[in-house]
Amino acid sequence: MLDSTTRIAIIGGGMGGLTAAIALTRIAGVQVTVFEQASTLGEVGAGVTVAPNAQRVLDQLGMLEPVKRAGAVPDGHGVYRDAMGNIVTDAAWEDSARKYQNIGMYRPDLIEVLAREVDPESLRLGHRSASVRTLDPGVRVEFENGAHEDFDAVVGADGIHSVVRKAIDQHPEPVYSGYIVYRGVVDASRLPGDWPMISQVWMGNSRHFMCYPLQQRRLFNFVAGVPSDRPLDGPWSGPAEVGELAAEFAGDDWDPKLRRFIRAIEKTFWWGLFDHEPLTNWSRGPITLLGDAGHTMLPHQGQGVNQAIEDSMALATFLRAADDVSDIPEAFRRYTSVRMQRTAILQHGSRRAGAMFDAQHEFTDLEKRDADIRVGRDFRRSAVFDYDALKVAERALNRFRRNSFA
Ligand SMILES: Cc1cc2nc3c(=O)[nH]c(=O)nc-3n(C[C@H](O)[C@H](O)[C@H](O)COP(=O)(O)OP(=O)(O)OC[C@H]3O[C@@H](n4cnc5c(N)ncnc54)[C@H](O)[C@@H]3O)c2cc1C
Repeated sequence: MLDSTTRIAIIGGGMGGLTAAIALTRIAGVQVTVFEQASTLGEVGAGVTVAPNAQRVLDQLGMLEPVKRAGAVPDGHGVYRDAMGNIVTDAAWEDSARKYQNIGMYRPDLIEVLAREVDPESLRLGHRSASVRTLDPGVRVEFENGAHEDFDAVVGADGIHSVVRKAIDQHPEPVYSGYIVYRGVVDASRLPGDWPMISQVWMGNSRHFMCYPLQQRRLFNFVAGVPSDRPLDGPWSGPAEVGELAAEFAGDDWDPKLRRFIRAIEKTFWWGLFDHEPLTNWSRGPITLLGDAGHTMLPHQGQGVNQAIEDSMALATFLRAADDVSDIPEAFRRYTSVRMQRTAILQHGSRRAGAMFDAQHEFTDLEKRDADIRVGRDFRRSAVFDYDALKVAERALNRFRRNSFA
């Protein structure tokens, strides 16, 4: 069994890295050190949904209550609407057992809740890793300032531009989706008093707009996806004028209620939507990947963070079964084989969901699009929300053990 003498470095203190730190400490019993390049922990001022599949993990880690307290549980199902506001279908926002219902979280709040559960001594801010290389035994993390530190293993949770990925010989090109999103939050007091406390998506004319409540319903998140070539020539994100966003959803073709929401927006920023093709490997020896570093996906299924949370539980479960440090590479291989397939499906599924929302490719026929969205609703519940990362990892462990005795 591994214990607190086993030293694992986590590169990246985002939502994935922090959850991994909690899971690896609580489930696998190892000592973690999180290296974050920024001088403070933080996130963009926007929302994220914590889905039932990730809540199950947070529950197993004893973390669900603080997340719920900081977030907003909606009044029920979300809805997909056409541009004029007619309902296409409701959106399943809970698992089949109705135990967990999507929670809307303000990102800085989620970082804060997670960081509170990580030993401050194990958090090293202002440390940008430049490279990672395998020693015999162990791994060396080299920092931009020329310093280095050695560990038994390294987990790369360093996002879409991961440097850890290079040590595994994975160099995926970011793929631009052709879309940017305008993002931000609105103070709920700026909306009509009877504004529904649910998730709503309006879809029309190659663009869509989504909003849902956050922070005990004091805030609303919004994400407006529109086609744009802007990130191809310059930065991938930046400040934006609310007028630009409003112009994308102006006119009588759009639901007056949506236009009312947009009038309440005071501030926004734009963000280019990128993903990459599924990697062919996540682990080499005592180095592995987690979260966006391994599987950046488009946001249209709201699963990027949720998959990082699932990764954290799976990784901790495989590590818990390791007898000693020399078993870590095998634990990482097992983790990779279970997680890579799941996330590859969701990477493709997220592209498909975006094409549906924006009536692109095979979904230009709106009748077909609407029928597929209705079918997708039940698929999402059973295939995405009902997934139990702990059970899946434990079952896989039993399979691996049986095979190794065969
Ligand atoms: C518009 C939009 C909406 C979304 N909505 C949802 C949603 O509702 N639900 C959901 O589950 N997902 C959603 N996502 C996806 C989600 O934001 C990402 O999947 C998630 O942030 C990934 O977390 P991560 O910790 O893996 O990576 P990141 O959040 O990218 O964190 C990486 C961390 O590593 C640090 N870092 C990077 N390089 C280094 C280095 N060399 N050394 C040290 N530190 C380093 C960074 O500073 C950062 O703190 C959305 C994404 C977008 C764009």
